[in-house]
Amino acid sequence: MRRPLRENLELDDESGRPRVLCTRCGFDFGDEEEWRERSYLKRQSPTAGGPLMKDLEGQFLLEQLFCPQCKTLLDSQIVEVEP
Ligand SMILES: [Zn+2]
Repeated sequence: MRRPLRENLELDDESGRPRVLCTRCGFDFGDEEEWRERSYLKRQSPTAGGPLMKDLEGQFLLEQLFCPQCKTLLDSQIVEVEP
């Protein structure tokens, strides 16, 4: 059975071993703990998320995860810049 895990990702447990798949291209991200590591990570200035993020510049970064195959955006979060 396949069920949605989050936007653009689904969990497929038909084989008895759950796999995380991209809903757009079917890319196999491995199990539920691995999908973030297998995603393409892009860190950029928070203003890439909109001009209102300007106050966060220098202290925070916008971290986005994409499918490595079809470049669909999977997750996006603001993270603190490591000192
Ligand atoms: Zn994909």
